[in-house]
Amino acid sequence: MTQVRTRFSPSPTGSLHLGGTRTALFNWLFARHHGGVFILRIEDTDRERSEERFVREIKESMLWLGLDWDEGPFFQSERLPIYQEYIQRLLDQGAAFYCDCDPADLEIRKKEAMARGEKPKYDGRCRERGLKAGPNTAVRFKTPLTGTTHWHDKGKGPIVFDNRELDDLVIQRTDGIPTYNFAVVVDDITMGVTHVIRGEDHIPNTPRQILIYQALGAALPEFAHMTVTLAPGGGKLSKRRGALPILTYRDQGYLPQALVNYMVRLGWAHGDQEIFSREELIQYFSLEHMSKSPGVYDEEKLLWLNSHYIKETPLPELARLLRPFLERLDLPASDLGYLAQAAGTLNTRCKTLVEMADAARFYLEEPKSYEEKGAKKFLTSESAANLEEIKKRLAAMAEFSEAALNQLFQDLTAETGLKMVQLAQPVRLALTGKTVSPGLFDIINILGKDEVLKRLNLALDFIYKKQ
Ligand code: GLU
Repeated sequence: MTQVRTRFSPSPTGSLHLGGTRTALFNWLFARHHGGVFILRIEDTDRERSEERFVREIKESMLWLGLDWDEGPFFQSERLPIYQEYIQRLLDQGAAFYCDCDPADLEIRKKEAMARGEKPKYDGRCRERGLKAGPNTAVRFKTPLTGTTHWHDKGKGPIVFDNRELDDLVIQRTDGIPTYNFAVVVDDITMGVTHVIRGEDHIPNTPRQILIYQALGAALPEFAHMTVTLAPGGGKLSKRRGALPILTYRDQGYLPQALVNYMVRLGWAHGDQEIFSREELIQYFSLEHMSKSPGVYDEEKLLWLNSHYIKETPLPELARLLRPFLERLDLPASDLGYLAQAAGTLNTRCKTLVEMADAARFYLEEPKSYEEKGAKKFLTSESAANLEEIKKRLAAMAEFSEAALNQLFQDLTAETGLKMVQLAQPVRLALTGKTVSPGLFDIINILGKDEVLKRLNLALDFIYKKQ
């Protein structure tokens, strides 16, 4: 088999979203599975709408997800002479022709065709006029007037189009810029692309592209069209319904592994396995197992996967990932060893890094306030004596082992006749400001003696001031 070569070819006219990124992922996985080559090509012939910042964002999004490319990025805007050469070939062969039809006039003729009950397509007026290049002259492809164009789609099975359904499509606009359908074929031929994997919205383009391949005498690649992803409850994904720019997911504290795992399952299955390592994805990925029906965006599932990967991430690495989120909250986050300890108490409790940074706040600064209901119930004059006692005993402890801390609280429950919760909750509030937190002994251990005593004193001050 010749070497597999796939490509991802986004237009830099907007941010990379889930759908586009899944296309990149499938092409990347297929290339990696076959030890092939993955190409990045930027389709920027629409000069008005293409922006450099989107090129940067596309690259950043892909690299964040670990979708590295082997060749490129190539820019269509830098390849105009190549397209012109191929246009000329088609013109010389009589497979394309110049057309100077005025767009407004074309519209009128299309409307008239519709009124006659015909398909509103180009009426072939310039097909045989033998026009030469000139101002306001486009180039059109001479689509066969009869027959069918068909292919066996790796994602969708056999697909047939009647050539009469297809237009004599414009392949070079009057400004000399090639159109998408033409440029993509020339690129895929010259870049040796063997597999075109893309969204099913491109199915209507495929017969047009196949006819151009045939006119150029080039071998066809395999085509595999992937199902779309729908918003919850149906309909297209939109900003409010599932389609955020990939980098927004990053900023919301998702891990790249979670997104990759999530995206792959939106359009591909391997039995009923849900969680895949990157190595497993590369090993198992195949076009034959792409889904036949659309995936539906499900935020809960994404969160579930994210929690899974947060739990899986080794603590030193998790601390490194967490740091920028803490810095965003203006928290002092330079001690990675300390952060790793803190993260170890939060990694089963938080679904995103944003959530974790917020939950880690008390590790990095003393509570600025106490949860109101909890304070009313637990930071009272009755609990002050216990807090004083706990403070005294903690101060006297040489080290905060789990066993020693346990002993301290056991002794106190026996001596005071109070329940554990009555003794522990005031301490928890003093240390974290909250009534719910990771295990108290872990917190005491991580904060260390000085900090713990300081916070107990602050809570005692708070109680005494209330009186
Ligand atoms: N630039 C096209 C898009 O963003 C690429 C289509 C293709 O893969 O052929 O949809």
